[in-house]
Amino acid sequence: MNIDSIKNGFVIDHIQAGKAMEIYDKLNLNKLECQVAIITNAKSKKTGKKDIIKIDKNIDIDIDTLGFIDPGITINIVKDDKIVDKFHPEPPKELKNIVKCQNPRCITSIEKDLDHIFILTDKENQVYRCKYCEMSLKK
Ligand SMILES: [Zn+2]
Repeated sequence: MNIDSIKNGFVIDHIQAGKAMEIYDKLNLNKLECQVAIITNAKSKKTGKKDIIKIDKNIDIDIDTLGFIDPGITINIVKDDKIVDKFHPEPPKELKNIVKCQNPRCITSIEKDLDHIFILTDKENQVYRCKYCEMSLKK
């Protein structure tokens, strides 16, 4: 695979070095049948090192999960070999079943069928709190 050329798909750039595998897992990229390239420790002018993921297909990308992992990521949309759009994912206001509440006394630990919901209570510092017990999420 020529990792420089994506015809139609995504280049997820400026990923914090070391986080590419977490994104790969959380976005279930192993389930894709198209070509996926993971580049770790690429040189970055801003942060020294960064990870990059290239996906050679126009998939339905989970932008909320990316925004939760790191809003500093740049998502480039590639069409016919050209970058046609570029944006940062917003941290989602609500996380639904992306992470689990760690509080053993939380109702979600007892009622196994409940959705795990976290609400963004402080956008600046990216603090999420459990909708049920208000315990803050540690990243
Ligand atoms: Zn909770």
